[in-house]
Amino acid sequence: MLDKIVIANRGEIALRILRACRELGIKTVAAHSEADRDLMHVKLADESVCIGPASALESYLHIPAIISAAEVTDAVGIHPGYGFLSENADFAERVESSGFVFIGPKAETIRLMGDKISAKNSMLKAGVPCVPGSNELLDDNPDDNIHLARDIGYPVIIKAAGGGGGRGMRVVYSEGALLNAISLTRTEARSAFNNDTLYMEKYLETPRHIEFQVLADNHGNVVHLGERDCSMQRRHQKVIEESPAPNITEQQRNKIGERVCKACRQVGYRGAGTVEFLYEHDEFYFIEMNTRVQVEHPVTEMITNVDIVKEQLRIASDEKLSFNQQDIRLVGHAIECRINAEDPDSFLPSPGTITHFHSPGGPGIRVDTHLYNGYRVPPYYDSMIGKLIAFSNDRDSALARMCGALNEIVIDGIKTNIPLHKEIIKDMAFRKGGTNIHYLEKKLRMK
Ligand code: ADP
Repeated sequence: MLDKIVIANRGEIALRILRACRELGIKTVAAHSEADRDLMHVKLADESVCIGPASALESYLHIPAIISAAEVTDAVGIHPGYGFLSENADFAERVESSGFVFIGPKAETIRLMGDKISAKNSMLKAGVPCVPGSNELLDDNPDDNIHLARDIGYPVIIKAAGGGGGRGMRVVYSEGALLNAISLTRTEARSAFNNDTLYMEKYLETPRHIEFQVLADNHGNVVHLGERDCSMQRRHQKVIEESPAPNITEQQRNKIGERVCKACRQVGYRGAGTVEFLYEHDEFYFIEMNTRVQVEHPVTEMITNVDIVKEQLRIASDEKLSFNQQDIRLVGHAIECRINAEDPDSFLPSPGTITHFHSPGGPGIRVDTHLYNGYRVPPYYDSMIGKLIAFSNDRDSALARMCGALNEIVIDGIKTNIPLHKEIIKDMAFRKGGTNIHYLEKKLRMK
């Protein structure tokens, strides 16, 4: 097992990683910015190193500072968490060439999956269904592109191969708008991602977002841990996630899960990963793979009893997975609400000091947060300050537990989106299950 690792992240995920390390007897180094000296995991870690000023560019995104933190503390590995450098292939490469273990996939796999065209082609090779489209880069020939869009059928979506964070995409409803949309998206992609490669897909109008969790070791073993439904989104940001996805049959799960595992085997995947799909009219369509642990991993942990972060650490220690696909049983239902420090109506960030924090409890309630009384939420980073997870035998009782926990939780001193969660949990369509990715924005527009 790894002896000591650097946690190159902040907030709840840094604390989550620290807890997993503690259980496995791995020593921890908290690499934090000047603004984050008071983070819970910095206080709990065996050692801590300040890696730079508040600005993420000069700290959590500053590769030499993070590698130095590992060097000066004699750590053997680096866990990138999610966001920041977690899907940066150059970072993974630098970590490994400096003699440390990158707790994640090989740099070449991150690169392969980071390019959406090569990711799509890797999935197609394993029989994973993809959104109908070009599957190759768009050239600059107007006639080719007009014919391609006609073949796919309008509406189509123009996407940047190197895009991320919901940017670098444009929906086109008619032929008249096509060529202009391609050139606008190309210009944007060049300046935002330094890569103007584009591709074209059918635009699905009312899909759900359903994703499969996978774990793969260094010895060719790959298992999937079922799926999550993350359709409750605002501006492509997930707000609520759950597992299993409502109304997905075991046959559908097994079929897609098997193919996803096959694709991971074919590309030599290592570690935890998520294969994302749009789901419409009973069909799955691959959109992208995330090569890291995700915010919403707890809902999968609750229904599978697998600790995904501990598995990441075991895999990075070159251990074999201790279970196979047949050992994975999905039991019960779990729902997660992302708690953000933001105004529930305007969605503007609301940093500041937590004057009072009270955590909810009782059977089936899990709270993943770094908050404590007197903690000051800094204005420099993502506004997510924690996750509230409710687990029970079935969806209705998990919803009832979530409702109770949302009423119990107290976060005073700043504004949070808890009032929004209370509304969504009571919403009749959400309670029924299976709302699509546009549902929340439509509901908010009608307020
Ligand atoms: P990113 O890497 O920026 O998150 P994705 O490829 O995952 O990009 O797409 C982000 C979101 O954009 C999806 O969750 C979905 O809402 C929308 N989207 C992407 N491709 C399509 C498509 N073919 N049809 C409909 N919506 C799409």
